Amino acid sequence: MATLFIFGVILKRVLSGIQPSGQLHLGNYFGMMKRMIHYQEENDLFCFIVDYHAMTTIHDGNRLRDNTLNAAMDFLALGMDSEKSTFWIQSDVPQVTELTWILSNVVSVGLMERGTSYKDKLAKGLKANMGLFSYPILMAADILLFGSEVVPVGKDQKQHVEMTRDIAIRFNKTFGNIFTIPELEIDKGSQLVPGIDGQKMSKSYNNSIPIFDDENTIRKKVMSIMTDSSKVDEGKNTDSPLFKIYSLFLNEEEILELKERFTTPGTGYGDIKKSLFLQIMDHFRPFREKRTYLENHKDSVYESLQIGAEKASTVAEKYLNQARNATGLNYRV
Ligand code: ATP
Ligand code: MG
Repeated sequence: MATLFIFGVILKRVLSGIQPSGQLHLGNYFGMMKRMIHYQEENDLFCFIVDYHAMTTIHDGNRLRDNTLNAAMDFLALGMDSEKSTFWIQSDVPQVTELTWILSNVVSVGLMERGTSYKDKLAKGLKANMGLFSYPILMAADILLFGSEVVPVGKDQKQHVEMTRDIAIRFNKTFGNIFTIPELEIDKGSQLVPGIDGQKMSKSYNNSIPIFDDENTIRKKVMSIMTDSSKVDEGKNTDSPLFKIYSLFLNEEEILELKERFTTPGTGYGDIKKSLFLQIMDHFRPFREKRTYLENHKDSVYESLQIGAEKASTVAEKYLNQARNATGLNYRV
């Protein structure tokens, strides 16, 4: 059992990761990061940057290194706290690759072949390397190695957690009750944040608004959010990416005001975009300051990540050892 007791309160172990596959954006922030940073107050949060996963698509050492460090600084700037939670870089705890191998031996090829995310990526033209194919086994190892009880995911990741449950059940049946069977938590309230082209905002679609880029880049991205051809003296569409992105920063009352501004003729899209830009800069101002500080004090970033890696390793060793014992890898009896 991974449950942690603090002052008599039961904290559930929640695990979530993000790929350093590009610059983190408003979709990542509202869909995942903000939630995780909040979770660390009420749960035993395990959150990590999954650089082994990103290797399935990034084959450029400098890019992977930069993305990884930038993602870590983004999280720390936004409030991830290595004292309150366990926050680390996946490859700092390489035990996960050993568990991936151990688990691979109870996973059927058929299960991997049914992976919809793998099939989607092939359809998008990605080369079918073995990393991409067996990605769900690495993800299962990520989850099981830390005794995770709850895994909050977007709809796109649902099947991977179901696979993890299948793999854990199969392993436990074969070798004894070692792994916690994780619960899947789909946040129904969270909606997909649209990109500036109206499709889902994604690191890899070149349609994102980054959280931490320079002001000019963010302004340019905001100004290029796709809009229709409504004129100033016409009402504007509230079922549009501009309205949806703007609403993320507002409370209910402010959303009603925004709706009013959209539906009442007299304002141009350009003016609305300018206020959205100011809103974004306002929202992230304190975080931007922290981000700049971290960039100039990398030692403090490395130190936070070291604390996280040590905490994560301790838990990983415990589960890995049990798996090694059960499967016969620890031969010194
Ligand atoms: P990639 O293009 O490499 O798939 P991505 O931008 O889709 O990158 P992921 O690493 O796949 O990001 O997802 C990280 C987290 O961010 C996940 O929890 C995912 O659900 C969430 N997320 C990603 N994009 C969005 C979005 N547009 N709206 C809401 N949540 C999102
Ligand atoms: Mg994605």
